[in-house]
Amino acid sequence: MNRNFTIGRIAGIRISFNWSWLIVFALLVWIWSTSVFPSQDPGLSSATYLVMSVIAAIVFFLSIILHEIGHSLVARRNGMQIEGITLWLFGGVAQFREMFRSPGAEFRIGIAGPAVSLALGAFFAGMARLTTFSTALSGTLAWLGYINLLLLVFNLLPALPLDGGRVLRAALWKAKGDFAWATRIAAACGRGFGYLMIGSGAFVVLATGSLSGVWLALIGWFLLGAAGGETRYLKAAEALAGLHVRDLMTREPVTAPADETLGEFADSLSGLTRHSTYPVVSNGDVLGLLPLGAISNRPRGEWGDRLVRDSMLARDRIPVLDSEDSAENALNELVGGEIHRGLVLQDGRLVGFISISDVGRILNQRSAFRR
Ligand SMILES: [Zn+2]
Repeated sequence: MNRNFTIGRIAGIRISFNWSWLIVFALLVWIWSTSVFPSQDPGLSSATYLVMSVIAAIVFFLSIILHEIGHSLVARRNGMQIEGITLWLFGGVAQFREMFRSPGAEFRIGIAGPAVSLALGAFFAGMARLTTFSTALSGTLAWLGYINLLLLVFNLLPALPLDGGRVLRAALWKAKGDFAWATRIAAACGRGFGYLMIGSGAFVVLATGSLSGVWLALIGWFLLGAAGGETRYLKAAEALAGLHVRDLMTREPVTAPADETLGEFADSLSGLTRHSTYPVVSNGDVLGLLPLGAISNRPRGEWGDRLVRDSMLARDRIPVLDSEDSAENALNELVGGEIHRGLVLQDGRLVGFISISDVGRILNQRSAFRR
């Protein structure tokens, strides 16, 4: 489930989609062309239904991207960094690189996406109603209006991590000034809605034999997991409170000179403790990270003559942290990164590197300490 493909950037925000979206796309086209459009607009040919469904699915896909861009632009205006937008099985997820700064900021960011969906839904529904296009075009527009409004209603459920859950958390956070308490309540609502959807989905399947209940149950299952993720994240953030990257990093790491061959570098390591990655340097500049797998997994004849710089992960593909960054920020960056390891700089100079297991070790120690 973790394969994401980047399709481009809009307003500087990276847009990716998870392969699971291809399945959803195919399912939507199938269901819409064989049952939704034939019952909404009877009498058209099956080729017409197929075209309507493909166009509707593409525009729906763009609508979800616009919804997430709404969140992202408002987030940026509220001083938050945006990692990117990923579309996956049940819609879009805007990835933020840090926590919300205030209840007001979370409220504005949370409501921005539904505002876009409302505008899109009203636009498509209005076009379908007020204009006189062919049946096929009006039908497609009407359906797009309907599903955008459905997306709006679903996202406004007061269940974290849905948008309505963010609005709820912002309100509770504002009322009591306690972010952790507000998160627990809003995430509990998320789990409640999750169970409710699984229950009603199962009921629909059993009582009517209709498979639409399966969708509802799946969405409920996703919501259950995501709400649990919010609570786990909160626990991690609480355990890491007050810690900085400098407290967790490996200091003065062994570095790999960019212009050595892998063979030369491997020889220089003999007798030293092996790490799984090595920062790559050249004339005092840090260029990237060399994974140990690049040299140890295959027979030496295959890699001995290659240069370190040709085998490394370049710096723009790995998290680069400052030693003064918060441990929570480091966790966010490392979780999102390709290899879960990052470089640590101080005033532009390499001072260490950090891996997600460094953060995990502290999390284990601190939660064991609390028990
Ligand atoms: Zn949203």
